[in-house]
Amino acid sequence: MKVLVATDKPFAKVAVDGIRKEIEAAGYEFALLEKYTDKAQLLDAVKDANAIIIRSDIIDAEVLDAAKELKIVVRAGAGYDNVDLAAATAHNVCVMNTPGQNSNAVAELALGMMVYAVRNFYNGTSGTELMGKKLGIHAYGNVGRNVARVAKGFGMEVYAYDAFCPKEVIEKDGVKALDSAEELYKTCQVVSLHIPATAETKNSINYALLKDMPKGAMLVNTARKEVINEAELIKLMEDRADFKYITDIMPAANAEFAEKFAGRYFSTPKKMGAQTAEANINAGIAAAQQIVGFLKDGCEKFRVNK
Ligand code: NAD
Repeated sequence: MKVLVATDKPFAKVAVDGIRKEIEAAGYEFALLEKYTDKAQLLDAVKDANAIIIRSDIIDAEVLDAAKELKIVVRAGAGYDNVDLAAATAHNVCVMNTPGQNSNAVAELALGMMVYAVRNFYNGTSGTELMGKKLGIHAYGNVGRNVARVAKGFGMEVYAYDAFCPKEVIEKDGVKALDSAEELYKTCQVVSLHIPATAETKNSINYALLKDMPKGAMLVNTARKEVINEAELIKLMEDRADFKYITDIMPAANAEFAEKFAGRYFSTPKKMGAQTAEANINAGIAAAQQIVGFLKDGCEKFRVNK
């Protein structure tokens, strides 16, 4: 069995070494394709792979057609919108993610960016504090839960809305569960977004939802840029001079945001939520272990194309 790590943006060396150790200890062959510049290199590397570990790499029908021996793809990370799930299912390929392995990293960044924003991007002027502010967590999954935990440490009043997570689960953490996204945005001055990018959520964060946020509102997006209706967010920020938008996922219209909303818009230059040594190692090694569990014992616990 051959396990390929195919990462345009490489894992840290310590993570690669850990993955190799897991794969070789199971008696499998380990192969590495990093920093590829051309899709043809990926198409060639997947030809005889039985399993692939990826990060943000695109696995589409063309890659799946080329990977004749493929049984499983594991996305080392949470979001798997870079994998064509329907095509994978049609090719009889199992797709997994590694939920929870990078959640603390993303949560710490979300809170760090909130502090940065309420302190006026550390420009030397007097800002405000997070303590006592109402924080709305939009989607109470692995990242949302970690944001709640850290935010409570800051003394924030924490609310959440999740379309699928039962209210009792949310309230058990001392977080107020609300019945709709509309209620969350109306209630909270700060909203932190943690919904996945799906057909239902893409473009769903729009003018109608954001317009009723309380004065001094701030939207923090460490989810996906696709969930934001950018044109409507720009219109809203033109209409509301008090509104801040903070993200680690650069919008397509970054230049327009930066030019129009100086002092209340911030994007990191690259997606950074999961960019910590700990998250890198945790997600990479979990991916290797999940592949071994699948190939040896048929374990499909983290399968996402059921
Ligand atoms: P998760 O699967 O643990 O949680 C997602 C939550 O969203 C679930 O609780 C689910 O019930 C809820 N949900 C799904 N559809 C919804 C909807 N329409 N309305 C409300 N709630 C809905 O995922 P996670 O680990 O918490 O990650 C969340 C997202 O964050 C990922 O999908 C990914 O896109 C993004 N992410 C970004 C980074 C980064 O580097 N910025 C890193 C990790 C994850």
